[in-house]
Amino acid sequence: MIQLPLSWLVFTALFLFLAWILVAWIGTAWARRRRERAELRRWTRCPVCALRFHRGPGSCPQCGAPASGESVRIF
Ligand SMILES: [Zn+2]
Repeated sequence: MIQLPLSWLVFTALFLFLAWILVAWIGTAWARRRRERAELRRWTRCPVCALRFHRGPGSCPQCGAPASGESVRIF
């Protein structure tokens, strides 16, 4: 049987635990960002009155201008 020092085992377990937390954190942040961007793609902004409304075949519900087809940018 292979003899391993206890400190090495503790260090490895701690490292794996922290790595797992980091991966889970990055994964959930990535999924949230992807969901938010997908939601923003369904919105458009009126070029005349700057009202945000759901993208569709119609025109702006406030001023009646035709929809530009441009997605809303958050940056
Ligand atoms: Zn408008």
